[in-house]
Amino acid sequence: MQPKDMTANEGYKGFTNTGCPFLPCHKGVQREFNCLFCYCPLIAYDCPGPYEVYTDRNGLTRKDCSACALPHDGYHQSWNFIQRWLEYPVVWSGQPQTDPPTRRPRPSGQDDGGPQA
Ligand code: SF4
Repeated sequence: MQPKDMTANEGYKGFTNTGCPFLPCHKGVQREFNCLFCYCPLIAYDCPGPYEVYTDRNGLTRKDCSACALPHDGYHQSWNFIQRWLEYPVVWSGQPQTDPPTRRPRPSGQDDGGPQA
């Protein structure tokens, strides 16, 4: 397989759907509102949240991400947040969010103690 083309254009990292009737759908976004992760790639994986847990009509445990702005706050910032948390994804256990939040998964011996978001 050939390597992907490289580009300096970072337009793929985010966009704002100004035509969406729900915009802004999450409170607390300070930067450009990124709609790229409207369906968060971390929904089935451990993440720092904040999220609530509920049971849907089919009896499945789900996250309610209404209070989370992390996938939306700034094109570059939210892109980088998602990429970092998908480096070593851990399937979500279905348990409520912990306090402090889940730490970003890393291979053993690679904990730099830095920020988690
Ligand atoms: S709490 Fe935030 S980061 Fe976690 S799955 Fe929901 S939207 Fe994604």
